[in-house]
Amino acid sequence: MKNKNIKIIGFDADDTLWVNEPYYRNTEKKLCQILEKFTPLENSKKLLYEIEIKNLPIYGYGTKAFTLSLIETALKASNNQINGIDIEKIVTLGKNQILQENEILPGVKETLEQLSKKHVLIVATKGDLLDQERKLLNSGLLDYFHHIEVMSDKKVSNYNRLLKHLDIKPDQFLMIGNSLKSDILPVVELGCQAIYIPFHTTWEYEKVSDKDLPVGKYVEIKNISELLKLI
Ligand SMILES: [Mg+2]
Repeated sequence: MKNKNIKIIGFDADDTLWVNEPYYRNTEKKLCQILEKFTPLENSKKLLYEIEIKNLPIYGYGTKAFTLSLIETALKASNNQINGIDIEKIVTLGKNQILQENEILPGVKETLEQLSKKHVLIVATKGDLLDQERKLLNSGLLDYFHHIEVMSDKKVSNYNRLLKHLDIKPDQFLMIGNSLKSDILPVVELGCQAIYIPFHTTWEYEKVSDKDLPVGKYVEIKNISELLKLI
């Protein structure tokens, strides 16, 4: 790492600081079970994904958007035949996911504590503003961060705006996250530094094919604790 240049370190939140994706997959499974009387599990899963992607430009990311897509999937999968009691169950699935207790990943607290002594740390995350703020407050990690940026998307233009806002040059920014598509590729394209920490479960939409990976332009580590040796 060209770490002498680094002025600000950005952390992704979901599946980088705390568990997130497994809750989505769990809710998806429960939705598919509710809809099994109308259509096989695999059909509902595929339909939900299509509806989520179609809704992204309208609702953005996060569990509220996901809940609306769950309901839309239920209506479509049942040909509008689903009853109110089942819709209520689906709304509750979404609420329960939002109110799920936040599970911090191993090594996160200790690593942030060390890094924050020498560097300015920020969170750069997608999702619902209220939801992410609540998770950060409950996480006990808030004090390690100088700034929290909840972004509507994580494309090159979004990171460009963030760098302008932070008043730093691209090579002075290091981004750390679990999504190649959202945390690594766009920042590498801007000339920032990046460290990829894969999580065991990745949302289909965030997957990147091997041929699109910028070889040698980012570092991959297995565990967040390894950051202390690199930075
Ligand atoms: Mg993430």
